[in-house]
Amino acid sequence: MKVLCVLYPDPLAGYPPKYVRDTLPRLTAYPGGMSLPTPSAVDFTPGELLGCVSGGLGLRSYLEEQGHEFVVTSDKDGEDSVFERELPDADVVISQPFWPAYLSAERIAKAKKLKLALTAGIGSDHVDLEAAIQRGITVAEETYSNSISVAEHAVLQLLCLVRNFVSSHEWVRNGGWNIADAVSQAYDIEGMDVGVIAAGRIGRAVLKRLKPFDVNLHYMDRHRLPEAVEHELGLTYHPDVQSLVRSVDAVSVHAPLQPQTYHLFDDELLATMRRGSYIVNTARAEIMVRDAVVRALESGQLAGYAGDVWYPQPPASDHPWRTMPHNAMTPHVSGSTLSAQARYAAGTREILEDFFAGRPIRDEYLIVDGGKLAGAGAHAYTTAGTASPGSTGA
Ligand code: NAD
Repeated sequence: MKVLCVLYPDPLAGYPPKYVRDTLPRLTAYPGGMSLPTPSAVDFTPGELLGCVSGGLGLRSYLEEQGHEFVVTSDKDGEDSVFERELPDADVVISQPFWPAYLSAERIAKAKKLKLALTAGIGSDHVDLEAAIQRGITVAEETYSNSISVAEHAVLQLLCLVRNFVSSHEWVRNGGWNIADAVSQAYDIEGMDVGVIAAGRIGRAVLKRLKPFDVNLHYMDRHRLPEAVEHELGLTYHPDVQSLVRSVDAVSVHAPLQPQTYHLFDDELLATMRRGSYIVNTARAEIMVRDAVVRALESGQLAGYAGDVWYPQPPASDHPWRTMPHNAMTPHVSGSTLSAQARYAAGTREILEDFFAGRPIRDEYLIVDGGKLAGAGAHAYTTAGTASPGSTGA
């Protein structure tokens, strides 16, 4: 079979990079007990850079020894791209949300042989799920592989915003020492109201990590958490986003992108937040109206915005989120630490082994299967009519 894999470009200084550490901590299971990926073997050393073209998710020798064709490219956008040219006879497409191969309905129509669209990581909104449903294509991802990686990043970015880290750091980098300027916008998070939108694997991990900061925790999700969890973390539940955002000083977004969350944060919703609120968004960029965020930062309605998700990816060099005031943006990196890559590369191999052997793919990895939302997808996404706006591509 032909496996077409879209990965981000290699490091500028070449591959492999010089690693700063020798080992990764050994984990035994995901929180809650879900087992780590169980491929029969892996052909990489955990801790290696796998998500770029030369890393090839550690799959090349396995696939080629099995007689499969393995095409890896980072050239993914536009009709003349390698991806578009290689797509018509691909059986399997793999890409990561960090450098998404947008599988729009038009592209799916061209991919006559496509059977499996695999997300190396979490979040399959770059695939038109409705088109995949119609065509009977299986969509799968490695649930939990980078959830904790993202949770750590979200907490980091929240603290960066509230404590005004970025501009304080810039003072010293630029040879200055102007404490008054640095602290004029710096606060403690202690005692603040902090909320998450969606308390799934990432949102819940963020709540757990924020609890020791002695903040008042709030959340909303279409699935309410068990009472014992609400009690343990001291959570205030909100039935809708409107109620949550007007009750908090900072919000961290962890819902999937789908029609219900597309452009959720518009001028109107932002105007209902407390003046000087903070938003961290490591979920998907299109949950925000891009320019409404810029306007809210310029007016002071928002005191800061951080996250690592953009639209499209990669964003243009003049994308306003690169330069808007009080931003602590990063490229889409939170879920692609070397730690996370080892897990989602192993999970990708596990899914491929099952797929080639005709065995069922683990239910918790499935998003779409058998012409409907399935497994993790049936829990996170809303209806079989889910056509993700993000899949329309760059
Ligand atoms: P998850 O499936 O465990 O949790 C998703 C939660 O969202 C579920 O609890 C679900 O009930 C809730 N939800 C769905 N629709 C909602 C709505 N309209 N309003 C409120 N809640 C809603 O997924 P997860 O592992 O926590 O990941 C969440 C999202 O984070 C992914 O869909 C993906 O877009 C994003 N993500 C980003 C990165 C990154 O690198 N930045 C990495 C992984 C995932």
